[in-house]
Amino acid sequence: MKKHKVSKFGGTSMANAETIQKVVDIIKGDEERKFIVVSAPGKRHDDDLKVTDLLYQLADEMIHHDKSDTFAIVRQRFDHIADELHLSFSMDQLLNQVFEEMKEHLTVDFIVSRGEYLSARILADLLGFEFIDASELLRFRGSKLDYTASHKTARKFLKEKENVVIPGFYGITSRGEVKTLTRGGADVSGAVIARAVSAKTYENWTDRDGFLMCDPRIVEDPHLIDAMSYRELRVLSFMGASVLHSDTFYPVAKAGIPINARNTFNPSCKGTFIYDVVPASKSKFVITGIAGLNDFTLVIIEKHLMDEVANFDRKVLSICEKLDIHVEHFPSGTDTFSMMIESKHLKDDKLEQLVNQIKKTMKPDTVEVLENISLISIVGRNLMANKYNMLKLFSALVNTNIIIRMIDYGSNGTNIVIGVDDIDYEYAINAVYNEFVRGEED
Ligand code: ASP
Repeated sequence: MKKHKVSKFGGTSMANAETIQKVVDIIKGDEERKFIVVSAPGKRHDDDLKVTDLLYQLADEMIHHDKSDTFAIVRQRFDHIADELHLSFSMDQLLNQVFEEMKEHLTVDFIVSRGEYLSARILADLLGFEFIDASELLRFRGSKLDYTASHKTARKFLKEKENVVIPGFYGITSRGEVKTLTRGGADVSGAVIARAVSAKTYENWTDRDGFLMCDPRIVEDPHLIDAMSYRELRVLSFMGASVLHSDTFYPVAKAGIPINARNTFNPSCKGTFIYDVVPASKSKFVITGIAGLNDFTLVIIEKHLMDEVANFDRKVLSICEKLDIHVEHFPSGTDTFSMMIESKHLKDDKLEQLVNQIKKTMKPDTVEVLENISLISIVGRNLMANKYNMLKLFSALVNTNIIIRMIDYGSNGTNIVIGVDDIDYEYAINAVYNEFVRGEED
């Protein structure tokens, strides 16, 4: 039985002395939290700047303008943290040393990586844990993270270790150059470490309880999702709901390690668990979540005996490709072929060009255009398990007088996508939520 967790703390958790103290308490509260990964200090309030943003600014100054004014602000942020915590080393000395190294290396990646480096040094000291530099563990090939090499290196290096703090967001190339991941990449570092040490769980601590079943701006006080699959999260994130960096899933999903998204500011909440395969006992409601996107255009092409035209759909899609128009869904029926396209791809005269070219090349009977359409994805791994669920879904929508413009069954049985008019978007989400969740609450 694996007995350790990898716990990654994001920028808001590391923002100031007070939040760092909460992080310390959380780690000390569970002795299974043996591998800690951290972000650089984030925003302390809405108008604040993240340390990483300051460091990008500093890199620009140092590399292009031969100055370093922003370093004083970075220094102030870390001095402030150090003043309120009892560190066993001199923050001033460490900052001087880091500044000298920045001048020596003088690359954007090295300079911005120092936020995570300093954050990890502080936390390791407070916990009495060993600090391990990410450049010992994460390997880059050019500017891309090499997952296989990183896994092997980290696994070997961490084999006999425990109670360690590792900075997220960066690693090194075979030439010894420090490279950073894309923004928010400390999530990915944590996932690589979790796989390398075969963690029981990969905890991802932010300032949110986890994933909510719906956008709380649309549905009042929605439930937290207790458990979902990676596949369900992919669909929900694609439709706009996200807490984690999208590359986080690959390393942990591969190893079957669950991710547990949790809130540093509400540690008594168990958060959301994300599994490769969700244990059956964890399914509270038929649906897992509802997410959606507005402002799509539906182009409906009708042609008598369409099936007798060879490759009709391919020809229409190649017109889209030539116009650089990405098609989200293409539901079709007898003698009809429709395309759901994000309206932003049809700006200027693109829509007109598309319709004209379809008319010219395909000689359809009609081309109808419906604008201001929203897509709603109803996600649930058990949705298709019972045929009455579909009946419930459609009666909930019909009873609310919502016209369904399009239906697309995700063929993997995880989700169903419906298209409704933008004005019906919020009503539709509430209708589905009321039917499947409010109706089932105990
Ligand atoms: N500090 C980096 C950023 O702000 C990486 C991270 O926090 O994940 O993007």
